[in-house]
Amino acid sequence: MINLAGRTALIAGASSGLGAGFARVLARAGGRVVLGARRIERVEALERELADAGAEALAVSLDVTEEASVIAAYDRAEARFGIVDTVVANAGIAAGGRSTAVPASDIRRVIDTNLVGAYLVAREGARRLIASGSRDREDGRIILIGSVTAGQVHTGDAAYAASKAGIAHLGRQFAREWIRQGINVNTIQPGWIHTEINDAWYRSDASRGAIAGLPRRRMQEADSLDAMLVYLASDCSKAVTGAVFTIDDGQSL
Ligand code: NDP
Repeated sequence: MINLAGRTALIAGASSGLGAGFARVLARAGGRVVLGARRIERVEALERELADAGAEALAVSLDVTEEASVIAAYDRAEARFGIVDTVVANAGIAAGGRSTAVPASDIRRVIDTNLVGAYLVAREGARRLIASGSRDREDGRIILIGSVTAGQVHTGDAAYAASKAGIAHLGRQFAREWIRQGINVNTIQPGWIHTEINDAWYRSDASRGAIAGLPRRRMQEADSLDAMLVYLASDCSKAVTGAVFTIDDGQSL
């Protein structure tokens, strides 16, 4: 079992779904976790849950679309735990609709949160890592959460899919820029997992046919990403950077 003792991870979008799960698994592996989201009461509840289980956790208010909020979240994290060496840029939203009808405000919100937000969160983490000497330690780990949708075409998903395709390329760009600064950057692209982001769709009639049409005729299990996340957050992945891991239960086959 990989041990993350001594490492500190900041998880953007830790108030529900995959991000809350990522926080739990990183904490279980021995890491300190900083839980960022806009719904502060949710991350505070998760902080209490993890502390009760013996982990070191800190809830911080975070809006990834606001640079000042990103900086403030890192400031709080550093004041408590020191340098954040692991960044999980997981915050995301979806706003679908036929491309001819979707409001400009929805397009901007999705790109701003999913792509610009991941950029700001990764960049602030990298700046601080570089300033703290990650070049010598080679301990920086940045994990971007993309989506299988980056490589697929679904009517009504244009802005979301474009934001996630952007994430995969952002990961490769950052990986090349920061490779000599001791920071590895990788992307995980999950398939469809039932969380709050797709709950309304999941409960609708439309989802039945779509799920039945998946290769395994079911949504992916939320914990199917855990081992990859812990690996990418650890020293074991020292030689892995600029990679895009699609973990989608065969959805893209
Ligand atoms: P959830 O809706 O459960 O979680 C989304 C998280 O993002 C929440 O914690 C939310 O927190 C946070 N978030 C949204 N906007 C912001 C913001 N401006 N600032 C900070 N945090 C924000 O969905 P998932 O867990 O499924 O999604 C997590 C990631 O996984 C997303 O990037 C999503 O695109 C991706 N993904 C999900 C898939 C799925 O099928 N579920 C498939 C492929 C990828 P809050 O609202 O409290 O700020």
